[in-house]
Amino acid sequence: MKQLLSDRINSLPVSQTLAMAAKARELRAEGKDIIGLSLGEPDFNTPDFIKDAAINAINENYNSYSPVDGYAELKEAICVKFKRDNNLTYTPNQIVVSTGAKQSIANIAQVLLNPGDEVLLPAPYWVSYSAIATLCEAKYVEIPSSIDNDFKITPEQLEAAITPKTKMIFFNSPNNPSGTIYSEQEYRALAKVLEKHPQIFILSDEIYEHVNYDCKPFSFAQIENMFDRTITVNGLAKAFAMTGWRVGYIGAPEWIAKACTKMQGQITSGTNCIAQRAAITAVLAPVSKIQYMVDEFKTRRDIIISLLREIEGFKVNVPEGAFYVFPDVSAFFGKTVNGVKIENASDFALFILEKANVATVTGEAFGAPDCIRISYAASELQIREAVKRIKKALS
Ligand code: GLU
Repeated sequence: MKQLLSDRINSLPVSQTLAMAAKARELRAEGKDIIGLSLGEPDFNTPDFIKDAAINAINENYNSYSPVDGYAELKEAICVKFKRDNNLTYTPNQIVVSTGAKQSIANIAQVLLNPGDEVLLPAPYWVSYSAIATLCEAKYVEIPSSIDNDFKITPEQLEAAITPKTKMIFFNSPNNPSGTIYSEQEYRALAKVLEKHPQIFILSDEIYEHVNYDCKPFSFAQIENMFDRTITVNGLAKAFAMTGWRVGYIGAPEWIAKACTKMQGQITSGTNCIAQRAAITAVLAPVSKIQYMVDEFKTRRDIIISLLREIEGFKVNVPEGAFYVFPDVSAFFGKTVNGVKIENASDFALFILEKANVATVTGEAFGAPDCIRISYAASELQIREAVKRIKKALS
């Protein structure tokens, strides 16, 4: 039947983050004791004050279609949030609310990219960036980095990757999968290069903004002459433990926001109205209300780093945000461990799934074939047990 499907879907890779989560679920259903460290999903409940707002919205009969780009009150609240947290001045006509930041990103790609355009992806990058670019028949161009410089690209690398066909670059700080945060100074140095190439748009994915430990992330659009070329993406999933609620949003030049609304109007319409009402409460809440989750993630980060560093062959840096570690495991490539030959990161991830019952994601899916991604959005007990099992399987 595959031949009956479109070339578009046949050439689209499966999302490896979601595939690994599905695989873990499947194995669990078969009775296996799998520890899932594959999905980037907070293991907390959505805070009660947000749940109450949703319950009120149901009782107040919010059951009709919302405006395609989101309720006016939510767009206003998002403008307040952008000013408060990012010192960015957006007006409601520059905001579009979508069904998750993933849809926000897909909208932007659909409205800006033509077939043959090039999209720069500093690697490692989130799995869906490359797939979304491919869906637009654009070509994605990876800019590699390494754990030795905390997975950051340099201005020289950026300059070398730009061609007359380059239309966009996707930045993501704090980064999924590496947890890296670019400093203001580093972003300004990259912006200096982009200044010389006015045809390039910047998508700044700031979904992990609040999940930071050692430094506050900087918003790319704050750079004066970049504001009109930058689309700032954010959402509620990660900081507010609202992954399943599916609320994302953009702040963008008005003409881009309008185009995204037009696109969304033909595909999904306005985001779920209950989730939007709850989102008003969430975005306006002081960040201190969610700090307990960030503090817990920081404790877990420190634990997982010290445990992984005890395993010979694991090279681990200290990520400053998000809830992932992205160790370089290339020391195992070419070796036979526990009777299994490991050639690459995918073999390694499969090996620890089968021999240690721990689900992670191969770095190949993120454009970093020497690494694997381990999510520590799991309990301390699970993290300790998972690393113990990995260590045993490798010994
Ligand atoms: N963004 C999360 C992750 O990277 C959720 C899954 C997805 O949409 O990729 O694990």
